[in-house]
Amino acid sequence: MKIKCPKCEKIAELGDDFSYVKCSHCSLDMSYGEYVKFIAYKDARYSDVLGDYVSDTKGTTPGTLDDW
Ligand SMILES: [Zn+2]
Repeated sequence: MKIKCPKCEKIAELGDDFSYVKCSHCSLDMSYGEYVKFIAYKDARYSDVLGDYVSDTKGTTPGTLDDW
């Protein structure tokens, strides 16, 4: 399925079985677990005010995709 690339913000591809995330625009190629961590890390940097949310997302397991 199509998702927003966390790196270049263009269209990336999420494997149907959630096993990989790939983006042909910036050569992003990572597992879904890495992708979730990437997103959590990125969010943490841009939402300092949301301290509680940040701590919630640390060490999170796949399942936060509903946010999209
Ligand atoms: Zn990309």
